[in-house]
Amino acid sequence: MKRALALIALSLTLAAGTAQAQTKPGIEKLYILNCAEGVAGDISRWSPGVNEGKSMPFVDTCYLIKHAQGWFIWDTGVSDRVAAMPDGLAPADPRMTHWRKPVTLAAEVERAGIKPADVKFMAVSHTHPDHIGNVELFPQAMLFVQKAEYDWPGANNAPRFKPEHPVTKLEGDKDIFGDGSVTIIATPGHTPGHQSLLVRLPKTGAILLSGDAVHFRGNWENRGVPSGNFNKEQTLASMQKISDLLAKEKAQLWINHDKAQRDTLKMAPAFYE
Ligand SMILES: [Zn+2]
Repeated sequence: MKRALALIALSLTLAAGTAQAQTKPGIEKLYILNCAEGVAGDISRWSPGVNEGKSMPFVDTCYLIKHAQGWFIWDTGVSDRVAAMPDGLAPADPRMTHWRKPVTLAAEVERAGIKPADVKFMAVSHTHPDHIGNVELFPQAMLFVQKAEYDWPGANNAPRFKPEHPVTKLEGDKDIFGDGSVTIIATPGHTPGHQSLLVRLPKTGAILLSGDAVHFRGNWENRGVPSGNFNKEQTLASMQKISDLLAKEKAQLWINHDKAQRDTLKMAPAFYE
């Protein structure tokens, strides 16, 4: 009798396991959005000692994901206000990036056939201005952010986000939809609560969206730690974490600001499945 019960329990466990494995992840598509274009004044700022004084075209990228539970946006780019500035936004430090905005994020989102109000969830890699410029274009969207980033005091102790914006504060990695399709990966170092995003698409496979854990291909290859980073050791550990994850997941690394790479990818209204 005991053995029969044990067998029933075992077969139930196996059945549950099979049912779980067969649950289809709800992710459908991913769109790449143009969130700004610019020129970095001196790329040795990101990889100290390498290519001193050399400038490089940069892009600023946002990603919009269609999931059965709702639309999710990753990073919000340079503020749409810059679109109205004929000469773009010149940096205070000429070694940094001069951003121009040929198209607004609001218009880019509409290329996917939706309105900003349709976006239900959002996350930003970190709180530098070229990533949080349009957070309030989505005042209704649940924001996923590391607690360490949320609590990091801004200039004059200003909060990084509007206190009334709906928020889920994280302490580490987070599977957003519970189906493994969209997972936030904690990659601190560039800022205290920097994060990256692992996306598993049904046809394209796994993609790791870098945030600013790395800024361009050469910067990744030489493991350059930008001079302005919050913590050097954390930055290097996060790069190793990403490297291990890429190997384990057989994932592509899509680098947010790498123009040469982004020029090889299709932009909205085209999408990846
Ligand atoms: Zn950036």
